[in-house]
Amino acid sequence: MTKVIMIEDDTELADMLSKYLSKFNISVTNYEDPFLGLSGLEVEKYDLLILDLGLPGMDGLEVCREVSNKSNIPIIISSARSDITDKVVALEFGADDYLPKPYDPRELEVRIRTILRRLDKANNSNEEILTDVFQVDTAKHEITKKGVSIKLTGAEFDVLSHLINNKGFVISRSDLIDGCELTSESGSIAVIINRIRAKIESDPKNPIYLQTVRGMGYKLVE
Ligand code: CA
Repeated sequence: MTKVIMIEDDTELADMLSKYLSKFNISVTNYEDPFLGLSGLEVEKYDLLILDLGLPGMDGLEVCREVSNKSNIPIIISSARSDITDKVVALEFGADDYLPKPYDPRELEVRIRTILRRLDKANNSNEEILTDVFQVDTAKHEITKKGVSIKLTGAEFDVLSHLINNKGFVISRSDLIDGCELTSESGSIAVIINRIRAKIESDPKNPIYLQTVRGMGYKLVE
């Protein structure tokens, strides 16, 4: 069941749309008041927001901005205002789609499906990245192998993250030194590579992940 929150002060329209969408396994919770709608969004998790622009007490564009600042919920604007500026501003404020009233409820259903399918695809491709062996978390200054954190020195982290970010490509020794801004104290590249292998390879003498490409440099493969 897809859960949609609607902020629409025209109750008749809201009722009609809710009834129609329920046939497609989409449940709609409508708020006539934008402030109550915003609170509703904080309490309950919804898949999508359908937002009217002409609302009592608070302009829909403002609602749109507030919502997209706080969450990633997809937003479809449903508005009788045909001003192109409204559309541009709404999209700038984070709306995903803009449906000018009056529209056929079938069109709304299709747009909901399209947005959710697109999101689903994006989420799935994220999962694919997560299944990679190595992950670099620059903010945490951490590299994980299959989800397990690897303890690395600063120089090791720099070299390994550089190789991971250029996965599959051969990186020459001089590129590694330049790219990682290694100092003379960091030790020679060969030493750092060996130390990294000791930490990531089950057989460091026959590395699977961090390979030497004879005469050229190193590459990371997964
Ligand atoms: Ca309205």
